[in-house]
Amino acid sequence: MTLSIHLFPCLNDNYGLLVRDEASGRVATIDTPDADGILSALEQQGWGRLDLILNTHWHADHTGGNADLKARTGCEIVGPAEVGRVAPLDRIVGDGDVVMLGQTPLQVTATPGHTLGHVVYRSVADGEAFVGDTLFALGCGRLFEGTPQQMWASLQSLAAWPDATRVWCAHEYTAANARFALSQDDRPEMQAHAGAIFAARAQGEATVPTTIGVEKAFNPFLRAVDARDFATRRAAKDSFRG
Ligand code: ZN
Ligand code: FE
Repeated sequence: MTLSIHLFPCLNDNYGLLVRDEASGRVATIDTPDADGILSALEQQGWGRLDLILNTHWHADHTGGNADLKARTGCEIVGPAEVGRVAPLDRIVGDGDVVMLGQTPLQVTATPGHTLGHVVYRSVADGEAFVGDTLFALGCGRLFEGTPQQMWASLQSLAAWPDATRVWCAHEYTAANARFALSQDDRPEMQAHAGAIFAARAQGEATVPTTIGVEKAFNPFLRAVDARDFATRRAAKDSFRG
């Protein structure tokens, strides 16, 4: 199984993500930040079809293009039940489910915290994971609906994946996250990692994907020792002005 992945900026700071199963030619979009942007990216790639929308959670910057893309391509829409409150949804998935993109199985993991129904998708064989607003490079999603305990448990399930797993986040927040990380962690290797992030952003380069191994080494939320420590760090980030 081989996946090709195309990442492109959408809206202010979202990433669009197109995923193609090379064996079958089937194409999925992870979330739908911008229907027009997604359709033109499909055309640019020469992929010529959209078979599947995989929603991670209900927020408008992740579901806003569902109706339009469904009308224009006839694709199937898969996501957690909460999406159905705001956008069309054909198939509800939850923890432990598997969604096939052509010949590639994608495992669904529930990651409540940012929203209560948030899910992430991962191809175990390819080592590629699509994590929405649960985990960011050097950060994590704000707790709009869930408790710190829920988000901590969600992040722990991602941290259990192999270190080489590539993590495709839904936003480019990494420079701001790096400023917060530096306020928590003064190791020279943290400073070097943040410096590389700032340099990449100064060149307009994406800092996504990251990997589980890199995030375990540097992400202040994965470096928390327990749920209480996580809650303290999340609260500090919410009021951080760096
Ligand atoms: Zn969100
Ligand atoms: Fe978002």
